[in-house]
Amino acid sequence: MNNNTKRLGILGGGQLGRMLAIAAHSLGIQVVIFSDQPNSPASYVTNKTIVADYHDKNSLIEFANCVDVVTLEYENIPTDTLNLLSRYVSVYPDSKALEITQDRLLEKRFIKSCGLVTTEFEEITNVNNINLDYPFIIKTLREGYDGKGQCRVYSNNDKINIEPPFIAEKVVNFEKEISIIAARDLYGAIEFFPIPKNTHNNGILITSSVPADISNHIIKEAQDIAIAILEKMNYIGIITVELFLTAQKQLLVNEIAPRVHNSGHWSVESCNISQFEQHVRAVCGLPIKPVHLYFSCEMHNLIGDDIKSLNKSPAQKVTIYGKEEIRKGRKMGHFTIPTL
Ligand code: AMP
Repeated sequence: MNNNTKRLGILGGGQLGRMLAIAAHSLGIQVVIFSDQPNSPASYVTNKTIVADYHDKNSLIEFANCVDVVTLEYENIPTDTLNLLSRYVSVYPDSKALEITQDRLLEKRFIKSCGLVTTEFEEITNVNNINLDYPFIIKTLREGYDGKGQCRVYSNNDKINIEPPFIAEKVVNFEKEISIIAARDLYGAIEFFPIPKNTHNNGILITSSVPADISNHIIKEAQDIAIAILEKMNYIGIITVELFLTAQKQLLVNEIAPRVHNSGHWSVESCNISQFEQHVRAVCGLPIKPVHLYFSCEMHNLIGDDIKSLNKSPAQKVTIYGKEEIRKGRKMGHFTIPTL
């Protein structure tokens, strides 16, 4: 066991970084944030934040020199940034995991190379040459999140205004969306969180309810999918795999997030260990822990103006991210509520 990690560096200053920093402090680990934005949500819960461009070599070296290990809360950190930092300090997850998950095409190919099934898709380099049947979804290869960089195409009357290359994906008529959140530590141990059922609106997560009403067989299959990905990537930390469960009870991999995930926020209130603490433990060389759910619950995201009209039920455990400006579609906070 590595008891020497006293200072954790986090790339990215959003709400995930903020909740990771709070978990690290609870373990007696100091946190330094590196963000390209001033006044980031994570910066308010630590005493040191470096604000600089992710390509600023001197600032990155200054960051590496004041921490023992680096992790991230945002998958679009440039891989060159991770490669530079890894010359000075351990970085988890590594740049290989990011290279794959930053590009939808590399990600789909990787999923297939693990022997797993993903949604039917085509790589498109010319908009006049799409062979999939309608309806399909266009997704940019890079930088898409919360439904951004995506559009649904129902017929040839729908105009595609995303520049190729992109992927076109069959619309899956799924029964449920679920996600498996798993951790792997430096000693090769793997642990899973209970599986939530997720609902989305326009590509943005709205609720996660746990446990999802799925059979033990599906739970085991989802866990096996996570194991295959974690081991093939030789991954350290929390990974999240978003899955579609079809009416035929087939699991299709939609997306891999190399980080803690919005669909696991309930773990703070309802488990013996949160996804944030589990991630900090894994990357700091502490052994990860088996996860137990204390009570079933539902997490609701507070998006944009939702934050103004909170129902103040005493059962709601509210978390506010401290973002200065309310914007449409912006995740401002969430609450968790026990369910029967
Ligand atoms: P993504 O950014 O790929 O995770 O997509 C965001 C959300 O859009 C997903 O969580 C689904 O709710 C929906 N979505 C994405 N791809 C598909 C698909 N091929 N079929 C049906 N729904 C999809």
